[in-house]
Amino acid sequence: MGTYINQNLLNNLFYILSSMFVYYFIYDHGKWWKTNTRHKQLLLIICTGVPLLLCMKFPIYIAYNCVHDLRQIPFLIGTLYGGWTVGSALLLILLAVRFFFYGFQPITVAVYFTMFIIAALASPAFRRLNRTDKLFASMWLTLLLDILVTVIAVVFFDFQVIDSYIFDFILVPPFAMLFIVYILETLKDAIIMRSKLVKIEKMEIVSQLAASISHEVRNPLTVVRGFLQLMKSQPMPKETQERYMHIALEEIDRAETIINNYLTFAKPTPKKEEVLIVGQELERVAHLLQPFARMNGVHLIEKCQPCMIIGNAEYFRQCFLNLVKNSIEATPIGGTVTVSCSCKGEEVIVAIADTGIGMTAEQISRFGEPYFSTKEKGTGLGAMVAVKLIETMNGTWKIDSKIQKGTTITITFPSATTRG
Ligand code: ADP
Ligand code: MG
Repeated sequence: MGTYINQNLLNNLFYILSSMFVYYFIYDHGKWWKTNTRHKQLLLIICTGVPLLLCMKFPIYIAYNCVHDLRQIPFLIGTLYGGWTVGSALLLILLAVRFFFYGFQPITVAVYFTMFIIAALASPAFRRLNRTDKLFASMWLTLLLDILVTVIAVVFFDFQVIDSYIFDFILVPPFAMLFIVYILETLKDAIIMRSKLVKIEKMEIVSQLAASISHEVRNPLTVVRGFLQLMKSQPMPKETQERYMHIALEEIDRAETIINNYLTFAKPTPKKEEVLIVGQELERVAHLLQPFARMNGVHLIEKCQPCMIIGNAEYFRQCFLNLVKNSIEATPIGGTVTVSCSCKGEEVIVAIADTGIGMTAEQISRFGEPYFSTKEKGTGLGAMVAVKLIETMNGTWKIDSKIQKGTTITITFPSATTRG
């Protein structure tokens, strides 16, 4: 039993597990790796190549003409997730390391070449599977491959099958694969969910604003209809007719602006970083929320100094849309929400002040926590998304609030000029 489960086996598992975490850590934090598939493949090769090398350098045990370790796990993970390119790179690494450390063995070439071909062939189908199927597919595939290559080794190379071989090479790897694929998929889901949340919240806002927008568009339409009917039903001097027509056109333009504003927000834009003129962006947000504010009987005021920061326009708008919308919702009829920005040295300070219901100390400390909402139909995602977006733009935020007096949220960004 001592040879079955020893420290080396645990070490092998540790190399593999930690490199999977490193993979997602780098993938999540380094932008370069996400830019195209080549970079992604390179990262996968590194993060499966390194544990592959470590497993081989510190094997579970060495028997006659055979070195036993868990190298097949990073090898299969890389090949299944990365296809032919990653698989062939790993095969090269594997064979090179094997010959360098332990000398040439034809059996190694036969075993891993077989695994490589079958795993690479299975890779496209594997990647299309859903999460649960992936788990079991990887487990069964590993078991079948292990049995297949053992048969090949026994038939063609006179290989001796011993107990510890059956345990370390045939029984442990399928289960290890199952768990590692599970961890990989869980980490992947977490990353995807996080990026999707921004989108979910946007859809939420778009649908919540729809009521106020359609209300706002219906008004000008009613006015225009009224004038047209008037002009049709009774003769009138040319002058009056002209005046009516002028008003009607203005109303139509107003409706068009509202719709345009709404659509530019709903439409996705490229995720690039650029210089943002803060005042301009905040003005757009205010325009977009003006119908919502009117519907709630709140005055929305926007006054800005010309300041610039670096960030993504869509993220910026979404962030402030969430914050200002919260302020409007917290403010009773007749109250005011003021959005202002100013430049102080190397900082741009945006303040959203309302004369609303205010927040308790507990509410302030929970601000930005997912699903924290005091509203009956609240999602509790708006503030969280806003806080995340502020962080991606290198900003900081702070809340001052008095119950029944109002809340001021102050957000500070580094000014664009200080970052060259
Ligand atoms: P939701 O708006 O769906 O409730 P948010 O994440 O946007 O979710 O906001 C979370 C909570 O923070 C709100 O339910 C509210 O209690 C509180 N909050 C946010 N902004 C303000 C504000 N300006 N004044 C008072 N309370 C606020
Ligand atoms: Mg909200």
